[in-house]
Amino acid sequence: MRTSQFLLSTLKEAPAEAEVISHKLMIRAGLIKRLAGGIYTWMPLGLRVLRKVEAIIRDEMNRAGAQELLMPAVIPAELWQETGRWEKYGPELLRIKDRHHRDFVIGPTHEEVITDVVRREIKSYRQLPIHLYQIQTKFRDEIRPRFGVMRGREFLMKDGYSFHTSFADLEREYGNMYDTYHRIFQRLGLKFRAVAADTGSIGGTGSHEFHVLADSGEDAIAFCPDSDYAANVELAEALAPTTPRVAPDAPLAKEPTPDKTQCGDVAQFLGTDVTQLVKSIAVVAAEGGFTLLLLRGDHELNEIKAEKVIGEFRFAKDDEIVTALGCKPGYIGPVDIDAGIRVIADRSVAAMGDFVCGANQAGYHFTHVNFGRDLPEPAQVADIRNVIAGDPCPDGKGPLELCRGVEVGHIFQLRTRYSQAMNCKFLDENGKEQVMEMGCYGIGVSRIVGAAIEQNFDDRGIIFPAAIAPFQIAIVPMGYHKNPVVKEAADKLLVELESLGLDVLLDDRNERPGSMFADMELIGIPHRLVIGERTLKEGQLEYKGRRDEAATLIPAGDVQTFIREKLCAA
Ligand code: ATP
Ligand code: MG
Repeated sequence: MRTSQFLLSTLKEAPAEAEVISHKLMIRAGLIKRLAGGIYTWMPLGLRVLRKVEAIIRDEMNRAGAQELLMPAVIPAELWQETGRWEKYGPELLRIKDRHHRDFVIGPTHEEVITDVVRREIKSYRQLPIHLYQIQTKFRDEIRPRFGVMRGREFLMKDGYSFHTSFADLEREYGNMYDTYHRIFQRLGLKFRAVAADTGSIGGTGSHEFHVLADSGEDAIAFCPDSDYAANVELAEALAPTTPRVAPDAPLAKEPTPDKTQCGDVAQFLGTDVTQLVKSIAVVAAEGGFTLLLLRGDHELNEIKAEKVIGEFRFAKDDEIVTALGCKPGYIGPVDIDAGIRVIADRSVAAMGDFVCGANQAGYHFTHVNFGRDLPEPAQVADIRNVIAGDPCPDGKGPLELCRGVEVGHIFQLRTRYSQAMNCKFLDENGKEQVMEMGCYGIGVSRIVGAAIEQNFDDRGIIFPAAIAPFQIAIVPMGYHKNPVVKEAADKLLVELESLGLDVLLDDRNERPGSMFADMELIGIPHRLVIGERTLKEGQLEYKGRRDEAATLIPAGDVQTFIREKLCAA
């Protein structure tokens, strides 16, 4: 390929709205163009990368025994009503009507459609197991599309679904996918980690996420350097403290804390540590009504864990708080409250004594608060917080550390969540009807391109992992339009390398060398060959790897072998 025939659209400046490096570089390198919030055109250069990612995924999925199909993006609402997700999915689900006023959705995921396919096609245990997957465009009306293609509204996903006669067979396939995903992300050249995950609204049990490790990642991952424990913070268990509660050392006191509504400010004002504070979070549960959740001052509520304890809930509104506690948020607490208000303490809080909490009076906090003396023992003690660095690992090994990741894949054991609701059954060996066990396996294909750049860049631009680079080699001739010898050598080299099956980009634009180098570096081509009149006379070419400090001279005659070796080493 020649740049003169290829739509390169690099930019000097990144758009102001781009927050993370991958988004900035993808726009500057001209891989994508924004059409609307979270909706992008993949330009020819970007599409080459996307297709390479796709090809690796497809190859490994096929090798693992899955079969590719392609389902529609537009799905009749009836299927979503059958599983109850028409009501449950919320505003992320783009709902549309056709000319006959019939409801449809633009598929954000395809459990319903695939289950409909399988219940129609598969009748007998003899046809199972089966694993069907697609690589297809999804739409989710994300509340905050950002980070370019990493959290888009329209994006490309690989979604696979497997169907089984037994849970044991589902577990086998789950293991097969766990291994397959490792192979995929290894081949893509990414630094990643499989982590235990929450199953979220999709339901079922057993789930792992695959995260590309990057500081800009939206997910927090807890892991133990001394063992193989790794879990999304959403899931990671915070163990109960093993140290006994401290005994009260003074009577309950009410202290003025004017204008101090944040735990850190209150602690500083009272000359104590934030770990001595208890904060109360007022929520309204669908069952159980107004509830106070107690957390240590420096801890954060984990909404997923809390939902497992109290069921669906929302945060209480200010007027509900005033009605229940007679006080505005900022100074609320669990002491002397209506006996009808449910109080749930995090495990860490249950182990605290002599703590500080809001006094349910604006501008005041209680100090030296003790359960059993100043207020009843909490009705329930549960793990409702996020783990923090230094917490003990749930497997009993070392202290936990935290890192950030971009979720690029997710595997679930769905069990019978969808097959039951949609009557997806088979006849077993005894002619008895049984519900199929189901697994689902997603990969964010377009998100991977952003995530790969988050891990591979420098101040000159993208450094694509060799497996997904848009071109493997750039040929940059010095004076292509002035010097026939250089032109001839460059044209010949292009043909030679392309005939080896390599993706080569010859920069035949009539530009300054500096700006050609800058473009080839910005777009992340891993290998560069420079052809100049002087070196050519000496029978040499100049080679530079994208990560190399300096260029080296290589004999022009050896270029094929040299490049082959470089590509194999990558
Ligand atoms: P997230 O928590 O990031 O929103 P999810 O749990 O909603 O992801 P899944 O429903 O498991 O995601 O979708 C499968 C994969 O699709 C994810 O692992 C992720 O890589 C990708 N994905 C999900 N939402 C988006 C999005 N808005 N833009 C790009 N890729 C996405
Ligand atoms: Mg999501």
